[in-house]
Amino acid sequence: MPVCAGLHSGVSEQPPRSLHDLGFSEFADLLAAEGVIPHHAKVLWRALHRDGVLDLAGQEFLPPLKRWVAASVGPGKAFSLDAPAVVDEIRSTDGLTRKFLLRLNDGQVIETVLMGYDGRQTVCVSTQAGCAMGCVFCATGQMGFVRHLRAGEIVAQVLHARRVLKTIDPNKRLRNLVLMGMGEPLHNYDAVMQALEMISDVRGIGIGPSKIAISTVGVVPGILRLADEGRPFRLAVSLHGSTEEERAALVPASKRWSLALLMDACRKYGETTGKRIFFEWTLIAGKNDSPETAARLVELLRGIDAHVNLIPLNPTGGFVGTASQAGHGFQKILIAAGFPCTFRQRRGIDVAAGCGMLRAEKRVKSAQSQGSHEL
Ligand code: SAH
Ligand code: SF4
Repeated sequence: MPVCAGLHSGVSEQPPRSLHDLGFSEFADLLAAEGVIPHHAKVLWRALHRDGVLDLAGQEFLPPLKRWVAASVGPGKAFSLDAPAVVDEIRSTDGLTRKFLLRLNDGQVIETVLMGYDGRQTVCVSTQAGCAMGCVFCATGQMGFVRHLRAGEIVAQVLHARRVLKTIDPNKRLRNLVLMGMGEPLHNYDAVMQALEMISDVRGIGIGPSKIAISTVGVVPGILRLADEGRPFRLAVSLHGSTEEERAALVPASKRWSLALLMDACRKYGETTGKRIFFEWTLIAGKNDSPETAARLVELLRGIDAHVNLIPLNPTGGFVGTASQAGHGFQKILIAAGFPCTFRQRRGIDVAAGCGMLRAEKRVKSAQSQGSHEL
C-alpha cells in the first residue's frame, strides 16, 4: 500500500497555504504532489469541511496521515487552517440571532451572523474586510475597502456557525446561507464562487445551491457573469433608488454602473436563468420612501420576475428609518402592482448583520454567558 510520503513538506519559507482555500479536487491534487494518497486526502478534506475539525493533530488519523499533518500543518509549516478567533459575540434578546466578530489570521476583523428564526437556520457571511462601494447608509461602506477575503475565510465563517449551532442544538442543521455581511460579493467574484462551490459540496458542508443567496449592490459585470456561467445560486440586488439621482445619492457605485445598465443586466439575468430576482430596498426617511418612488419602482420592475424585500434601516450616519406607516404604504403600492413584497424581520439580519455596526455598538456585558451581550 502506498504511504503518505509528504514528510518533505517540513518548515516552509513561503507563507503557509490555507487548507480551507482548496476545493476537493484541488486539495487532492495538491496533497498528491505532497505524496498524500487520495484516500487520505479525502479523509482530511472531510474532517475539515464535513466535521469542521480544527485540531487536526488531535485526530485519530492513520499513522501516515498523522505524520503528514504533524510535519506540514501549523505555525511555520507549509499549510495552515482558517480558524478565525471570536473577538466578541452579541445575541438578540430572543436569543435567535447571534452575531460574531471574528478575527482572521492577519488580524482583520469581520462579522458573521447565525440566525435561527422561522424554524430555519441561516448564516450570513462577510466576503470582504470593509467595502469599496461606499453606500452612505452602510457602516461597512463608510469604513472603506481593506481587502478581499480568501475562499477559505468565507468557508471558515460557515464552519464557525455550524460549530456554534451544534452547541445550541445538535439536531438542527444549517441549511441557508446569505452573502449579506461585510463587503460586496461580486467585487470578489472568484474567491466567492470558489467558496460557494466548497460550501455546497455534499462531501463537505453541503448547503444546497438554491439555499444560497448572493446579495449585490449592482456590480453589472458580475451579474452577467453569474448568468453566463449558469451559477445555481439565488440573486438579490440592492436597489434603494428609483431614478439615477435618487440611487446615486445613496449608492455611489451607481455612478459606475447606472440604474439603466443595472436594470438591463437584471432583465438579461432573468431571461437567461429563468430565476426570480430579489430586490432589496432599505427604507430611508425622505430619501426613497415616497409613494411616487414606489410607483417608479413598479415601472422599473415591469416584466421582471421580482420579489421586493423592504429592509428597515439600521440608523447610521445621520439617516433615519422610514416610519412603519409609510413603509406599509410603500409595500401596498408594490403588492397592488402584482409584485410580492415583504418586510425583512428586524430581529434577524437587520438587527445584527450586513452593516459592520458591531464595533460601533455600545457593549453591555451579559451576566449569563462568557463574552456575550445582548442587543
Ligand atoms: N454588498 C452587498 C451585500 C452586503 S450588504 C449589498 O450591498 O447588497 C447587505 C444588505 O444590507 C444590503 O441590501 C444593504 O443595502 C443592507 N444594508 C447596509 N447597511 C444597512 C443599514 N444601515 N440598514 C439596513 N440595511 C443595510
Ligand atoms: Fe458595500 Fe453592501 Fe455596504 Fe454598499 S451596502 S457599502 S455594497 S456592504
